[in-house]
Amino acid sequence: MGKYEAIMELFLEFISSQKKDAYEIPVGVSNRHIHLSQEDLDTLFGSGYSLTKLKELSQTGQYACKETVTICGSKGAIEKVRILGPVRSKTQVEVLAGDSFKLGLFPQTRMSGDLQGTHGITLIGPKGSVMINEGLIVAQRHIHMNTKDAEFFGVCDGQIVSIEVKGLRGGVYNNVIIRADDNSTLECHIDIEEANAMGIDGKSKIKIIK
Ligand SMILES: [Zn+2]
Repeated sequence: MGKYEAIMELFLEFISSQKKDAYEIPVGVSNRHIHLSQEDLDTLFGSGYSLTKLKELSQTGQYACKETVTICGSKGAIEKVRILGPVRSKTQVEVLAGDSFKLGLFPQTRMSGDLQGTHGITLIGPKGSVMINEGLIVAQRHIHMNTKDAEFFGVCDGQIVSIEVKGLRGGVYNNVIIRADDNSTLECHIDIEEANAMGIDGKSKIKIIK
């Protein structure tokens, strides 16, 4: 190897180490929201109803809808809970831990889709109401990425990592699940309570630590 090549190699190594050190994972902060099955959508909004897209979300094909519902527990109700589309095979209600006190329901923290044995809740729409037997969760924080990103960060689908947040209120969150597949966009998903607790906003970036 010549002198020039050796210097280039060192330079490239330096660049890639800088890149890996950077706080380069964007954060998506979510408020309480609902995913509905078509059957429950029909009951709440009328037979054959289709959702109205309000805003595309960063994960391809996912969008926030114009429609909202009221969610109701034994102690109280929360109005205007946003529906996210498209419809899913099963209705899922994602609330904030602080909502538990208002609702009188104490949901488990789960990954999206892992609903077996979770709490039920009542949903009220303009045309009717539905009582689901399970599906109420506090979403477990996670990072979406494609398989190339996973390779870059040296992680795999399902792996549990910690994330570090810079700033005055910064810190470390443990138990963040990696969700890697072929067509996800790199983004760390946390809820608004987790974001507030560490001074995170939509412009913040986080770093994986293992
Ligand atoms: Zn997500």
